[in-house]
Amino acid sequence: MNDKPLIFDIHLDLSMNAMSWNRDLRWSQEKIQRWEHIQGLTKDGVGEVDRGNNTVCFPEMRRGNVGLCVGTFIGRYSSYFHRLPGWNSPEQAWASTRAQLAWYRCMEEDGELTPITTVAALEAHEKLWLDSPHPDDGTPYVVESKKQPTKLPIGYVMSLEGADCLVKLSYLETMYQDGLRALGPAHYGPGRYANGTDDCGRLREEGKELLKEMDRLGIILDVTHLCDETFWDSLDCFEGPLWASHQNCRTLAPWNRQFADDQIKAVVDRGGLLGSAFDAIMMVPGWRHLRSTPEGFQLRIERICEHIDHVCQIAGSAKHICIGTDLDGGYGTEQTPMDMKSIADLQTIPGLLAERGYSKEDIDGFMWKNVVDFLKRAWS
Ligand SMILES: [Zn+2]
Repeated sequence: MNDKPLIFDIHLDLSMNAMSWNRDLRWSQEKIQRWEHIQGLTKDGVGEVDRGNNTVCFPEMRRGNVGLCVGTFIGRYSSYFHRLPGWNSPEQAWASTRAQLAWYRCMEEDGELTPITTVAALEAHEKLWLDSPHPDDGTPYVVESKKQPTKLPIGYVMSLEGADCLVKLSYLETMYQDGLRALGPAHYGPGRYANGTDDCGRLREEGKELLKEMDRLGIILDVTHLCDETFWDSLDCFEGPLWASHQNCRTLAPWNRQFADDQIKAVVDRGGLLGSAFDAIMMVPGWRHLRSTPEGFQLRIERICEHIDHVCQIAGSAKHICIGTDLDGGYGTEQTPMDMKSIADLQTIPGLLAERGYSKEDIDGFMWKNVVDFLKRAWS
């Protein structure tokens, strides 16, 4: 048995890390970091800023008891010479998400991941993690008689971050058949179906058709990244369940990427969830991308409790909060709280919330139960 609460993280970009960053997430965190340093991929070399600093891999997820997550597909399209990165055609974006799917399937076959698409699978997987023994290192195992202990697969719900890769609307049903259960129509900047963070504009006809098709298929709407006008239009058009998968509060970290109080209220009124994100830029005011440091801000995990408190004040309960770390979303420890060296450090949050007077029930809700309850309502 395990005294650490189970964790359900509703936003991880696992397949992007595997297929665009060439990270084998079965490796230890130390092995991934060492390889990236040796390859010269780190900031001091020629590479990306988050290289050599990752916080997410399967062994760390297991050490932190992250037994459930939402794993994204991401395939951006960018118009000719647009400043934001992306594929030059929706077809290439689609093909890249097909590669991501192939990787997810390989991880399933290898026993690292297991897809969660139904209430029955969700309940069985939750029970498996809650009932399995956890040896000293904290990593849960299934012990089958006469066999070697086998690591527990991590349950994952498939989500698509940004709909650009859907060449035509009919592609959505293909993804649904593959197991897709959530979708955020936009990402950063202008999108083919909806405009996202740092952009503006009403929801276009293509976006309305997309939402209608999502309603038909029963796909959860992820309202994170929608620009403000599109956010409100989407709530009018879409009837099904919605969440904001990696979403903090604008009043505590002013930038349109975060939600204003009336947006938080609107998500709550629809029975939705807001996933607390651990990207420093979404946690504190005045963070300057690629210039600020966690030490400069003395940023600690505890800061997230301010965001959690704020959502709970608006909601009048602790039923609409959950974890949506985004910890592998294109940054590493250069842009996380100083005490967030690994996704396993999420396990410090129960203590921080208890100090603030949250009950065990509230804390369990935040760590995983609110998501399980949400999915049971959404899927039944
Ligand atoms: Zn995102």
